[in-house]
Amino acid sequence: MEQIKLVVSGARAAYNQGKTRPLEFRIQQLKALERMLNEKKEEFSQALKKDLHKNPFAVEIYEMSGILNEISVAINKLPEWTAPEHVSKNMMTLMDTVYIHREPLGVVLIIGAWNYPLALAIQPLVGAIAAGNAAVLKPSEVSGNTAQLLGELLPQYLDKDLYPVVIGGPTVATELLKNPFDHILYTGGTNIGRVVMEAAAKHLTPVTLELGGKSPCYIDSDCDLDVACRRIAWGRFTNCGQTCIAPDYILCDKSIQDEVVQKIRATITEFYGADPQKSPDYGRIVNQRHFKRLMSLLEGVNVVYGGQSDEEELYIAPTIVTDVDPESRIMQEEIFGPLLPIVTAGSADEAIGFINKRDKPLALYIFSHNKKIIKRMIAETSSGGVTANDCMIHYSIDTLPFGGVGASGIGAYHGKFSFETFSHRRACVLKSLGFEKMNSVRYAPATDSKQKWTRWLLKKRRGGGKKRLIMLALLGALVAIMMKFYFI
Ligand code: NAD
Repeated sequence: MEQIKLVVSGARAAYNQGKTRPLEFRIQQLKALERMLNEKKEEFSQALKKDLHKNPFAVEIYEMSGILNEISVAINKLPEWTAPEHVSKNMMTLMDTVYIHREPLGVVLIIGAWNYPLALAIQPLVGAIAAGNAAVLKPSEVSGNTAQLLGELLPQYLDKDLYPVVIGGPTVATELLKNPFDHILYTGGTNIGRVVMEAAAKHLTPVTLELGGKSPCYIDSDCDLDVACRRIAWGRFTNCGQTCIAPDYILCDKSIQDEVVQKIRATITEFYGADPQKSPDYGRIVNQRHFKRLMSLLEGVNVVYGGQSDEEELYIAPTIVTDVDPESRIMQEEIFGPLLPIVTAGSADEAIGFINKRDKPLALYIFSHNKKIIKRMIAETSSGGVTANDCMIHYSIDTLPFGGVGASGIGAYHGKFSFETFSHRRACVLKSLGFEKMNSVRYAPATDSKQKWTRWLLKKRRGGGKKRLIMLALLGALVAIMMKFYFI
């Protein structure tokens, strides 16, 4: 455990040398990361096959493409993101340079989860590097093959001291958390999220918690059910249901429940054939603990399709459960597997009430032809993100923040939001030593006229067209001259 302390202090010593400050260095590291992903694609593919039965197609689109895109966005946008952001001023500061400077936080910790073990480790790392931090990466031990490979490859491509990889499970994570970090980004379950936040509080370390929860999927009766069911089946059964933003359960009117079941069944066959166990496109449960947990969720519920399993292969068939009691166990915890319960809700109102009685979810899905229903559901509920008439797509758009709200998480990342997450926004005011007369209003002794001037000078100016700014500058100069005479 002394080793962990050394790794963290090594990262801090390397950070303190100032290596990460120049943009050229950050860009060079991001390019090296990109090179690693391209050159070692095959190795990653094999590790992910062993961990989760992912095929090369799944690796390409769900693990690799997102991070490669994030890297190229960061490389292209870094000069823009790091440029000083000039902000509007009041009359008192009109002659000053006032801006926000994004500076690195320092040494950050990234704790990854197992379901997309490559993407969930590397994607936050891209933001940490772009923002100029050192980062200690702890991938999930549950997806051990990918974790080992990351531990082997990252030091071959990136600066070893600035971006060390620590391999291990809860004991190692607990040891790591004893060290002071400048930010922690954790991806995983809510309970451990609490543990991470508690450990972070000891050092007043800010956290981003990317958690999970039960993401509802409302199907309105005014809907193209063929399309809706195909998209929902994709969202639920991709990666064997082990996706944080997968639709966790369906809410729909009882009158369309049978049709929904029949159409999702048809889609499962279209995607995975008559026997999904034989399909190269269908995943496996990550380990025995999760396999047993998922099978126990099926006790006492009405399985209308699927339900078959093979413990040795960690296989659970795509499964649909109907007329689910909202109080049953399958509705108490995030499923995180290939089980799809349907709870009946007679109207959008009822669905909204159902959603609002529970923890704020990571994602909400609404399927309807009716735009008013979609807008209403967005206005009257809360969730980390929303996609209407599809599943999970909001995750793939790097200009949207990705994160939860309430029990589904704290903070967000992706694209510029990752850069912001790992940056400190430093407020900067650069004054000259001139115009001292302007300042005299704030110095003692206080007088009525000084008070009047101060009130006027501190007034906020709205808007900021070029013409307006020039006018304000002229006005400022005039005020300075007037004050010079007034206070002499
Ligand atoms: P996991 O078991 O891989 O744990 C996550 C990380 O926490 C691992 O690196 C693990 O080593 C570490 N950990 C375990 N015990 C710890 C401790 N005591 N202290 C500190 N760290 C510890 O993953 P999991 O929790 O099974 O992940 C599944 C959950 O993650 C689901 O709820 C899912 O919805 C959520 N998730 C969220 C996102 C997101 O982006 N919001 C993405 C993927 C998964």
